Amino acid sequence: MSKGKVLLVLYTGGEHAKQESRLLGTIENELGIRKYIEDQGYELVTTAEKDPEPSSQVDKELADAEIVITTPFFPAYITKTRLEKAPKLKIAITAGVGSDHVDLNAANDHGITVVEVTGSNVVSVAEHVLMTILVLIRNFVPAHEQAVGLSWDIAGAAKQEFDLEDKVIATVGAGRIGYRVLERLVAFNPKKLLYYDYQDLPASAIQKLNDASKLFNGHDNIVERVLNLEELVGQADVVTINCPLHEDTKGLFNKSLLSKMKKGAYLVNTARGAICVEQDVADAVNSGHLAGYGGDVWYPQPAPKDHPWRSMKNPYGGGNAMTPHVSGTSLDAQARYAAGVKKILESYFSGKHDYKPEDVIVTGGGYATRAYGERDQK
Ligand code: NAD
Repeated sequence: MSKGKVLLVLYTGGEHAKQESRLLGTIENELGIRKYIEDQGYELVTTAEKDPEPSSQVDKELADAEIVITTPFFPAYITKTRLEKAPKLKIAITAGVGSDHVDLNAANDHGITVVEVTGSNVVSVAEHVLMTILVLIRNFVPAHEQAVGLSWDIAGAAKQEFDLEDKVIATVGAGRIGYRVLERLVAFNPKKLLYYDYQDLPASAIQKLNDASKLFNGHDNIVERVLNLEELVGQADVVTINCPLHEDTKGLFNKSLLSKMKKGAYLVNTARGAICVEQDVADAVNSGHLAGYGGDVWYPQPAPKDHPWRSMKNPYGGGNAMTPHVSGTSLDAQARYAAGVKKILESYFSGKHDYKPEDVIVTGGGYATRAYGERDQK
């Protein structure tokens, strides 16, 4: 007789998981935590069958689970209705960063704690953001397609290829990922680094970027906080989205805001797909108002075959730097979020519930973080 059930929802690794045991985020390798969970007297059920609600394996198993572990990469959407049918559920753990796939308000209503492995993949994502910006601005994809497609049309690729140097780059959200993106951008000698966030960056963090810019590029005071989002996007050659998905950011980048972006600007979103209105973004790229859009996040996930971000292209045939949701799940990141999940479980099983404060998203019926909306200021 087990003490309780742990439900673990991961993506399928198949052959890849056999080839690479460090693919911990797969149903085959189970974050490396099966033995640990069973040693605690708990039953572990692992599945990739998360859709559709309400007839999936997740619906069936969640009904009597005490702990659910999910990932943002292949999210089991822990909706209000699913939570209502999970009377034993105490804690939802996100193996990664970003718990918007759990209905956080409903979790509060049911007194369920939601924790994630904060920081576990922020470097991985920041690197992906830098890569995506470069892929877009250097017009890499059309040039690469020429290389493997046996053609050689330099003008065709170069007619929309620029340098990142001397551009204005803006981040919406300047938390762990947003700040790391700014840090990495200094090396490219930008004209300005702008940020929009209701939480101010510490003065020392801004000083560090300005000092590095002065030292490496001879340019001082490159970092600026902009309090109005439309003003921010109107000044930027590249905008990168690095804030969580919550009530105030859902659909934030819609036709109206996109129209305020500079013609020929680039938008990079590795935060969450639903922060952007998918058809509005596709229209902006297809029309050439945006020179390109890239990122790895979609809604829903997996993205349907006819999702407009799969096929959008700017009028020159480039401007699409989409990937599946891979930025935060490098093998290095998988090792970190697997270890982080184990730490959270240790704290839960010990009965102390002494999680790292920065890992806790909601607990005891309320939000424990300011990142998911300005709730305490409203
Ligand atoms: P963080 O909590 O350190 O930073 C988030 C920042 O966004 C905070 O400073 C917060 O104040 C700000 N913010 C919230 N709402 C805002 C708004 N309306 N406008 C402007 N700023 C706002 O989180 P993080 O570690 O930097 O991660 C940010 C997000 O990135 C996550 O919530 C997740 O959605 C996404 N993410 C994606 C991947 C991936 O694999 N693609 C991996 C990790 C995180």
